Amino acid sequence: MLDAWNITKSLDACSYCGRELAENRPFYSALSENEGDLARSDFCAACWDRTDNEPFFCFWRARRNPRARKRTVDTGLMIEFFDRLAQPDSEKKKVFRFVLALYLMRRKEFKLTGIRRGDGREEMVFSRRSSGDEAVVENPGLDEEQIQEASEQLTGLLNAAL
Ligand SMILES: [Zn+2]
Repeated sequence: MLDAWNITKSLDACSYCGRELAENRPFYSALSENEGDLARSDFCAACWDRTDNEPFFCFWRARRNPRARKRTVDTGLMIEFFDRLAQPDSEKKKVFRFVLALYLMRRKEFKLTGIRRGDGREEMVFSRRSSGDEAVVENPGLDEEQIQEASEQLTGLLNAAL
């Protein structure tokens, strides 16, 4: 169920010490996983150093800039997140992976080279611009509205527009 996804909203505060994240100072965002769900936490630089051993699904360095019109997801992070979802063990992860592939195609990082059908499933085959390697993505068969919804969920999770 898309509407049951648990997404942490940006509070612009450190999840660990609760202090407000300073403008234009780097901070860290990390996704943690709980039974197929993903949630984001933000950490100030000092607290990030204390999280060394936590098994994050993925993490990145961010910067709070309230004057920027729109924060967009870095392409490298998008690719890393896509690759971390290589063996999706839940429907949501499968959906996230598919939507990320569509956005990577829009950014011309992925090129659609074929579609495979069989066993009632459809797989999209992409070629990666950087390496030429193949990326195979199962099409979860979403309609426009569900894709839009998943994009919004990803925007909330990554705290930036796709
Ligand atoms: Zn902190």
